[in-house]
Amino acid sequence: MSKEKALDIVLSEFLELAKVPRPSHHEERVSEYLFQWAKRHGLAVEKDALNEIIIDKPASPGCEKVPRVIFQAHMDMVCVCEEGVSYDPLNDPIKVINDGITLTAEGTSLGADDGIGVAMCLYLLQDDTLRHGPIRAIFTTNEEDGMDSMAIDPRYLDGDYLINLDWETLGSLCNSCAGGDYFNFSHKAEWEKPVAGCKTLTITFSNLLGGHSGVGINKGHANALVTIATLLSMLQQGGVSFRVASFGGGQAKNAIPAFGSASVAIAANDEEKAKTIIEAFRAEFTEAFGSIEPNMVFTTDITNTAPARVLKGEIGYGLVGLMTTVPNNVHTMSPFIDGLVESSANLGVMSVNEEIVRFTVFARSSVAYQATQIGVICAALANSFGFTFDSEGHVPGWAVNPNSKLTHIACDAYKHLTGIDMIVEPVHAGVECGAFAEKNPHLDMISIGPTLVEVHTPNEICKIEDVKVTAELLIEILERIAQ
Ligand SMILES: [Zn+2]
Repeated sequence: MSKEKALDIVLSEFLELAKVPRPSHHEERVSEYLFQWAKRHGLAVEKDALNEIIIDKPASPGCEKVPRVIFQAHMDMVCVCEEGVSYDPLNDPIKVINDGITLTAEGTSLGADDGIGVAMCLYLLQDDTLRHGPIRAIFTTNEEDGMDSMAIDPRYLDGDYLINLDWETLGSLCNSCAGGDYFNFSHKAEWEKPVAGCKTLTITFSNLLGGHSGVGINKGHANALVTIATLLSMLQQGGVSFRVASFGGGQAKNAIPAFGSASVAIAANDEEKAKTIIEAFRAEFTEAFGSIEPNMVFTTDITNTAPARVLKGEIGYGLVGLMTTVPNNVHTMSPFIDGLVESSANLGVMSVNEEIVRFTVFARSSVAYQATQIGVICAALANSFGFTFDSEGHVPGWAVNPNSKLTHIACDAYKHLTGIDMIVEPVHAGVECGAFAEKNPHLDMISIGPTLVEVHTPNEICKIEDVKVTAELLIEILERIAQ
């Protein structure tokens, strides 16, 4: 084996891994696959209670005193398929297509996020022609839907350097990420009968762009739920009383809602007033968002039948008032880095059922104070609208380390290999380095990886040349650390 073969080995490891089903929350099989892989290769391996795999490779001869480098990738993947494709994520392999230039999958997501990171680690663990100090590979579970590695035992993070391989842009190096807080707003649902003779107004927004609530928060996409609440507030302020019969939408707490719908009861003699307000809203909204949201579908419908039941007035008005005032968008921009969102909040999912009215806000911040401030605002608003507020969970952030040696080594190595300057950038999203920073504040970390396109969709693409460059970069970094 030699490093000239690095790309071939990475690709063959990726193809083997793709045969093992590995959706988030179901990592038992892939965890066992990686465990047995290490045994077969004669490497020390541990499996923890989270099914995470930790593999150690000793230093190459003469490099025993070189600091340990930890490589880390997550073993789970988002499993989605094209409409009409029969695919069972728990049992079916990913059928990888290699056309010599890109890797894609037949009808499903590819899982290069983060399978290609895993495959690169497996290459580094097996090539015994490389010169390096002790290497550890950590394969984490359920990164995509909860970040299990927040609970990793700190003793596994005993090293000097950590390279996270879950970054999706070659030529860019991530050196910091935002933390996050999940906030819940809720109120007991109390129902009553609507006034006799009222009508039902249904408002629906769909086909909005939505997107990631971190990296997409400054793109100006419309939030379906906040938009509906805004229209309802305008109706109320325009003298149209209503009672909420249903309200729901959003895809995930950490995504900008691309769809939402609400039904309210209105008095029959308010119909014309409501239509006038809706048309004024439509004109203004279309002017603001028409070019940003080209596929948007906005419909309103008034029927002569009353809803079966409605929320008590103060709950419905409280809900709408809260949804229109709660932080939702960019909160602060970084005073230090041009164009970087420092803190933000996103109203994510909401639902009204028999028992409860609730919605979530996911706040992100790279500065603890701004995170606290968003929390304080949310709590104060919930209180003034009579809602219950609670903080469900905290995802730790990862602050910039201005003395990071690893960043310099990686940038120099990349320039040496490609002649191009590496871009060093923080990100307004969560990466696993946040979890590790909290557990071992002395770890010098970076996040890098080959360019991946349209991850979490059946159109996911991984560029093979980028995999080659990334593998060479990892080898170069290891050798520079060993010097
Ligand atoms: Zn990932």
